[in-house]
Amino acid sequence: MEKITRTRVADVLKSEAYGSKVNVKGWVRTRRGSKQVSFIALNDGSTIHNLQIVVDIEKFDEEMLKQATTGACISVNGTLVESVGQKQKVELHAVEMEVLGGADPAVYPLQKKGHTLEFLREIAHLRPRTNTFGAVFRIRHNMAIAIHKFFHERGFYYFHTPIITASDCEGAGQMFQVTTMNLYNLKKDADGSIIYDDDFFGKQASLTVSGQLEGELAATALGAIYTFGPTFRAENSNTPRHLAEFWMIEPEVAFNEITENMDLAEEFIKYCVQWALDNCRDDVQFLNDMFDKELIARLEGVLKEPFVRLSYTEGVKILEEAVAKGHQFEYPVYWGADLASEHERYLVENHFGRPVILTDYPKEIKAFYMKLNGDGKTVRAMDVLFPKIGEIIGGSEREADYNKLLRRIEELHIPMKDMWWYLDTRRFGSCPHSGFGLGFERLLLFVTGMSNIRDVIPFPRTPKNAEF
Ligand code: ATP
Ligand code: MN
Repeated sequence: MEKITRTRVADVLKSEAYGSKVNVKGWVRTRRGSKQVSFIALNDGSTIHNLQIVVDIEKFDEEMLKQATTGACISVNGTLVESVGQKQKVELHAVEMEVLGGADPAVYPLQKKGHTLEFLREIAHLRPRTNTFGAVFRIRHNMAIAIHKFFHERGFYYFHTPIITASDCEGAGQMFQVTTMNLYNLKKDADGSIIYDDDFFGKQASLTVSGQLEGELAATALGAIYTFGPTFRAENSNTPRHLAEFWMIEPEVAFNEITENMDLAEEFIKYCVQWALDNCRDDVQFLNDMFDKELIARLEGVLKEPFVRLSYTEGVKILEEAVAKGHQFEYPVYWGADLASEHERYLVENHFGRPVILTDYPKEIKAFYMKLNGDGKTVRAMDVLFPKIGEIIGGSEREADYNKLLRRIEELHIPMKDMWWYLDTRRFGSCPHSGFGLGFERLLLFVTGMSNIRDVIPFPRTPKNAEF
């Protein structure tokens, strides 16, 4: 075959250089035709759209053409031709063709269209080759770029917090332990407790559940930072919104109080949604048409109006009134209860019809580091609640007062020996500061309209599942 530099299908489809010779490489999606001519729909991952390759059968080797079945990888040199009556305005008339890798039709699992998402999860190693997952993973990439762009443009620094941590203050019980010890022969003291002296770090270590505490160290030095990395939670919750390994974005800003924190969260999320509409239009449109006819309307909807800002106390009042009027929730709702996703979604979808930022939660159901309000009962927490998702962001203004923070740490029996470095932020040059965590996959659920979080991360980790 003549050596021609490859052009991506996305670029070929935009080209108007009719008559020019190009090379494309990609995977056969479908092939149809007659004895004289074959039409190959070729996709190379650069766009949701396929390029139609027209093959005049008698000009090609029969054995080679036989190999060019669904799933096979081919390289084609051809002439760009304006196509009439087709969805795309160009097609490629093949001049030379080579099969780089066949895909035996007897065993290739992605033969026909219309596989269920459940089935595709079982072949997660191949599902990026489907239209749906191509679209989802292109959007995933684009959202990551949008996030970095948003913060970079606003003077935030991307700060890397550790993945292995020895402080278990936040996630006790739901952390994955990291060890090099021989689990069959553990050293124990007289009480039967494990002695960690000989473990890799000389103490108990785990995978991080959040980069926030280290993020605060950075914010009180660099001013404004964000993290964007993997986090791990061994919570045994088999829901469509929880993963054991997920990615989190955590901005932390010195001098921001809770209101500025809310402003940042709202601006940030709207920026990401707008980015998806502007930069992933074809993929979003595809998902809208295939899975969720309301998707684009929902995305445009959150951009239109300001988010509702409401205290937890007022939110609970609305939910109690709903119950009084006969609305049935699975879980009880009362002041002091941790809200379930059904409650959050009721506020967003049934009551207000737009995103809600719920603030000032009872201190008992929130983390120790949140700033205590004057009432002594609530803390300056803020959860951003979204249609279809429920909680998409959790954040707060942090307790900046050394003594108040210490009191909370003691009340909750958090081991001080692990926390001394965190407390130093309050001992030396303490200042008001705030931040939040956005679950990247929850954002992707919203933007793609997919309904299971396992379908917006390439290789999901959930209880009893770590294949691929
Ligand atoms: P939830 O109540 O939904 O379990 P959370 O209150 O435990 O969430 P936070 O600790 O506030 O969550 O974490 C910040 C954000 O991280 C959440 O708002 C959510 O977007 C995301 N998140 C939390 N847990 C998970 C998980 N297991 N899988 C995916 N995303 C998650
Ligand atoms: Mn939360």
